[in-house]
Amino acid sequence: MIWNPDKECMSREEMRTLQGKRLHKMVDYVYHNVPFYRHKLQALGILPDDITTIDDIRKLPFTTKQDLRDNYPFGLQAAPMSEIIRVHASTGTTGKPTIVGYTRHDIGVWSECMTRCLSAYGVTRDDIFSVAYGYGLFTGGLGAHYGVENLGAAVVPASTGNSEKHCRLICDLGITGIACTPSYALYLAETMERLGIKREDIHLRIGAFGAEPWTENMRHEIESRLGLKAYNLYGLSEIMGPCVSYECSEQHYSHINEDHFFPEIINPDTLKPLPMGETGELVFTTLTKEGMPLLRYRTKDLCSLTDEPCPCGRTSVRMTPIVGRSDDMLIIRGINVFPSQVESVILSTEEFAPRYLLVVDRVNNLDTLQVQVEVRPEYFRGADFDTLAPLEALEKKLEKKLKSVLSISAKVQLKAPGTIERSQGKSKFVIDKRHIK
Ligand code: ADP
Ligand code: ZN
Repeated sequence: MIWNPDKECMSREEMRTLQGKRLHKMVDYVYHNVPFYRHKLQALGILPDDITTIDDIRKLPFTTKQDLRDNYPFGLQAAPMSEIIRVHASTGTTGKPTIVGYTRHDIGVWSECMTRCLSAYGVTRDDIFSVAYGYGLFTGGLGAHYGVENLGAAVVPASTGNSEKHCRLICDLGITGIACTPSYALYLAETMERLGIKREDIHLRIGAFGAEPWTENMRHEIESRLGLKAYNLYGLSEIMGPCVSYECSEQHYSHINEDHFFPEIINPDTLKPLPMGETGELVFTTLTKEGMPLLRYRTKDLCSLTDEPCPCGRTSVRMTPIVGRSDDMLIIRGINVFPSQVESVILSTEEFAPRYLLVVDRVNNLDTLQVQVEVRPEYFRGADFDTLAPLEALEKKLEKKLKSVLSISAKVQLKAPGTIERSQGKSKFVIDKRHIK
């Protein structure tokens, strides 16, 4: 169902007019309420009245994660503390977490946008929906929670941890929908298998997965193990939290809630905007946010945009899946490597489970890449000293495939099922020892 057809199905022209109006208001608001932006705009000789259409966005300065860190904790906040009703922090995947304050209006917009996502996945008031993102400073838990309540489905605030109890609840309550990280979804599937809960015992039909990059292969894996349809949910705390974009029933890229978050793609080196279809760094400007509005925030997430009409009827710009973060990209012996490339190779080989860890090191001035990966139980069974030979062949097979995709050689180390550490929130896929030394 389309939750808000007025906004989700606006003509492109109407949308751009609305975005232009909101951008003007936003620039005026930050000019008068955030000294950081006032100084930046003054330095560029820009006054709020110079911004009248959405195309004028290109005149505005960028904001980086470093700016947020430099102004920690509340330096970029526009609303007075008396108007702030909630504070979250980013996970801090890549360093010091950033702090975000929300006004009542912001929480309302967040809930509305999250409800649009859930509706697009097909969640209805009859669903029992479990939120298994972490509740707390992380935006995942409460963000998804408010959306489910707003839609009117029954929310089960499972959070992370207590996985066995959660699996039993999924079974006993007949839970039909779930939101969590894709890796936690697999962990739940493993836990259910361990507990002897079968697919016929559960009624999950919809999954809203995000907070970390995942591949099509991972989608198939989750869908077949949990018996549900897996949808992408994207967001980041600096801009709002989960709700920024979502897949519809077409499952072909994610619709952006563009009336609130204006997307651009830039070349991260030259900072020049790139046309639709070209891959680069995703940049968002908040168009309605009161607590901590941001102009042209550089997400470091890499993807491309399309404004082609979607058969679902929504007219919003869609973003492709995130290939990785620009700061996730590893440069190994001068070659760019994304963990997602390794994941695709691993999951296209039936003997491997989607559990892996990349260990990068530098030995005698030469970068090395080791890929640790779990072998699926059915292929590992009996892997004792007598039967190591097949495993060795498996190692070689993966090394060959990796070499052809990555253009550099990697050393594969096979691991027994269940031996790579599980995460309940965002997974850690890389250990770069070059930075530790
Ligand atoms: P942190 O940047 O500290 O991890 P957040 O907890 O706000 O902070 O996480 C936001 C980031 O998580 C995004 O910028 C993106 O890199 C990643 N992310 C969120 N949803 C998705 C998704 N559906 N696909 C890929 N990456 C995602
Ligand atoms: Zn669509």
